[in-house]
This record gives sequence, structure tokens and C-alpha cells, in this order.
Amino acid sequence: MATAHRKGKKNKKELLLLMLTLLMLVALVIGVIYTQSESYLANLGHQTTHKQQPKKVANNSEVPVTTEAATLSSTEEQDPAPTTDIVWEKQEKPVQLPILMYHAIHVIAPGEEGNANLIVDPTTFESHLQALQQAGYYAVSPEEAYKMLTENVVPKDKKAVWLTFDDSLWDFYDIAYPLLKKYGMKATNNVITGTVGHEANLSLDEMKEMKENGISLQGHTVTHPALGNTDPVLQNTELADSKSYLDSNLDQDTISFAYPSGSYTEETIAIAERNNFKMALTTNEGIASAADGLLSLNRVRVLPSMTAELLLQTITTP
Ligand SMILES: [Zn+2]
Repeated sequence: MATAHRKGKKNKKELLLLMLTLLMLVALVIGVIYTQSESYLANLGHQTTHKQQPKKVANNSEVPVTTEAATLSSTEEQDPAPTTDIVWEKQEKPVQLPILMYHAIHVIAPGEEGNANLIVDPTTFESHLQALQQAGYYAVSPEEAYKMLTENVVPKDKKAVWLTFDDSLWDFYDIAYPLLKKYGMKATNNVITGTVGHEANLSLDEMKEMKENGISLQGHTVTHPALGNTDPVLQNTELADSKSYLDSNLDQDTISFAYPSGSYTEETIAIAERNNFKMALTTNEGIASAADGLLSLNRVRVLPSMTAELLLQTITTP
């Protein structure tokens, strides 16, 4: 009896210890989740760049989070996306939105001279990001751009810019993306879906990873034809197939695309509309505004020779 009693006491002690240990473990896990749950996206509005490990957050109207960390804690899904930090202010005058157009970001290699105008040196690119940050620019997502242009609002106490990159090139993941993260800037890559996974282009895995960290992947057709000179049936296929590829593979509603080589006609615009695109980007030089039509928005071409100073001058609206 005595032994059994002692043993019972000992068991109780052990149980208590076990429960205490469990409690501490739970507290530890919660602590770890809490400190790690501030993601790159959540920090965008504060321009902090200390996060090494970007993590998934629910952004805008997108799908529920599915990462391991998210399944550990339901609060993870509630992480504030930067959009929640932004207060949108209604404007009297029509909103003007500079949409920057980049292509490749890498040190030009021998033999690339023919494409020189499309290749911006990483040092120059970083100087652009730094200047934009210092000048108080907030980089918008396609959804935020759409909101600005349709509701005539701007982010309070900030200037807005939409950073776009065409052609889903390899260097966007290797070079541009780390720099964008460093400066807390969102960006959009317009993807040629027929090239996904090719050596010189982004892979689907890279796109998925970036999508979880502030990068938006939007359309740029399947094979990059000049739509303005393309049969309407083929134009429709190019737009429909590229949209459904991005929609299904990235689990999103793709709302914008860029016209390859800036080529389009009124018929192309009608086809884009039928395919439920809300915005389309041209290569027409200028600052975008709703008055130009949401399916024919101007962009600012960023040339390799463009200094940060000139870039700021070019996009400063009166
Ligand atoms: Zn292109």
C-alpha cells in the first residue's frame, strides 16, 4: 500500500512536471510563431528588411495559406498584409499612377548588345529602388493599382508606383527579387506562360515562392506574339490560355497583362475584356490614368542609362 501510495504520489509529481513541460513547450512554440510571423509582406509598409525567411501571408483576395507554419497557428492567416497599413485617400483630381517597365536586370554579357536597351545593370536598378524608397514611394500590387484607378484614391502620405517587369526572365528571381525584398518593394512580373521552366526563364516553383512574398505574376500571353498583327482567334487563345495557366497554377485571379511589344488594336482590347482582364499595360510612354482606358495604360520605359534622379523626375506628377 505504502509503496503504491508513494508511487501514486510520484506519478502525480511526474504528471505535474509533464504538464509544466508541455505548457512551456506550447509557450515556446507560440513565441517562435509570433516572432517569425511578421513576414516580408507585413513589413513592406514599414520598409524594414531584417527578415531572412520570407513566409506566407494571406494577401488581398487570395487563397488561404497552406504552409506548415500557418497550420500551426490560425492567427498566421490574419497577418496584416501591407494593404491594411495603407489608408486610401479619395482625390479630387484624376489619379495618376507611374507604371515602370523593366525587362532584364543583370550585368550585360558579351553578345547581348542587341538587347542592351532591355538590360538594366543591378547597381543602377538598386539605385532606383533606393531613390524611390527615400522619396516616399509605395510600390503597389495590380489589385491596388486597380483600386487607385477605379476608385480615384491614393495611399495616404505616400506616393504610389507600380513596378513591372516583362518576359519572366531568370534574372528576375536571381537578381531583382532579392533587391526588391531588400527595399521592401512589391513588383509584378508579366509572364510568357509558354516559356515557364525554360532555362532563361522563371520556373513555376520560383513563381510560387515569389508570389508568397510580395511579387505578383500577371499575363504576357503564351508565345509573345505582336497581338496587333495576329488573327483574332489566335489573340483570344493567347490571352485565354495564358490567363487560365496563371489562374490555375498560382491559384489566383489574374487581372492584368502586358501587350507583347506593346502591340494591340481596338479588337485586342475587346478580346482582353471578354477574357476578364481588368487592366492591360502598353509600351505607350507616359503616366497611367483611368482616362486613357484601363486596357491601354501608359508605362514609363526604364532605360539602362536612366539615373535614379532622372527616374524620379520622370515619374513626378504635378
Ligand atoms: Zn515582352
